[in-house]
Amino acid sequence: MSVTSFNQIRVSSAALRHNYRLLQQKVGSVVSILAMVKADAYGHGMLESAQVFASVGCKNFGVAEIDEAVRLRSSGIRGNILVFLGFRPEEAELFFEYGITPLVYDLQSGAALSREAVKRGQEIIVHLKVDCGMGRLGILPEEVEAFVADLLQFPGIVIGGILSHFPKADEPESQHSFEQFSRFEGAAAKVGKPFSLVKHIANSGAVLYFPHTCCDMVRAGISLYGYYPDGPGGREREQGEKLQPAMSFITRVLQVKTVPAGTGISYGYTYTTDRETRLAVLAVGYEDGLSRSLSNRGEVLIRGKRARIRGRICMNLCIVDISDIEGVQAGDEVVILGHQGNDCISGDEIAGWMNSISYEVLCLFGNNNERTSG
Ligand SMILES: *Cc1c(COP(=O)(O)O)cnc(C)c1O
Repeated sequence: MSVTSFNQIRVSSAALRHNYRLLQQKVGSVVSILAMVKADAYGHGMLESAQVFASVGCKNFGVAEIDEAVRLRSSGIRGNILVFLGFRPEEAELFFEYGITPLVYDLQSGAALSREAVKRGQEIIVHLKVDCGMGRLGILPEEVEAFVADLLQFPGIVIGGILSHFPKADEPESQHSFEQFSRFEGAAAKVGKPFSLVKHIANSGAVLYFPHTCCDMVRAGISLYGYYPDGPGGREREQGEKLQPAMSFITRVLQVKTVPAGTGISYGYTYTTDRETRLAVLAVGYEDGLSRSLSNRGEVLIRGKRARIRGRICMNLCIVDISDIEGVQAGDEVVILGHQGNDCISGDEIAGWMNSISYEVLCLFGNNNERTSG
């Protein structure tokens, strides 16, 4: 008998496939999609999700660190795998051994890659990371020319791509992405002729709201998992076929009981019942990614109806009010995220209660619980 947790993340492969195909339709067939599978595919499982995307034609994958890239490659993923956070000099050999593409934004990593290239008698393709207005990783546009000249002093380095990142592509009304895109194009033009560069800057927001920035490749993250980067507003604005959320999160009722008015609930008594109240104790807490900030704010679905979280969320437990829901029993399925009956709680709704974004909700839930795909 296999033993499983009360808490189960279900990932719909059909939704992942739908989202990939929808994005491919949006960007057109000449633009490649790079599937961002960092953070364990935003909580959906890196290896499983990459395999699903590969099955519908994906040939480019993005991760944060080299160890993720090695795991992807070792699991049989083919195509290009880009590592977005750089690497330690002693890890340079891994890019050759596993055929992985590094991003370069300093000369030390160029030197480390070059030493390895010379040792092996090989070349390595790198992508140049430019900071055109994110204020994060990357060389500045005005440094590109000098940086490229220095980088090309190192034997074995081939510049195969140039990229940047938008800070405000999830703001459809903002002019900022237009300005940033022209800085990016200027920077790319300075790399010089001998290279045919793969240019990429668009994230999900840019694909949806600034499609003229798609260039050769787009880096889709949140949209592949079924969410709009600007939250519920994006889903409403969508005129055509919509992205489908792929993740749902299910827990169980452990105990049902009725307490009198005036009963303090959970640590610190941040909630006291104002009437006789029926409560369900659930097998989920902040250890499972149900953020403590949802205490007295969040809702769950039981028997297709909404139940409010009462009192503080504990490490492995929380308590919900089921006074208005008939027939709840220990063992009942409880939906934290997803559909039940005619209702649905989305990652955007939960993010709203937490004062956060769907990205964080998906990572918290997905990366702290057992996952099953279907
Ligand atoms: C995470 C990430 C993306 C994907 O962003 P989404 O908003 O999830 O589409 C694209 N590019 C870079 C550099 C990233 O770090």
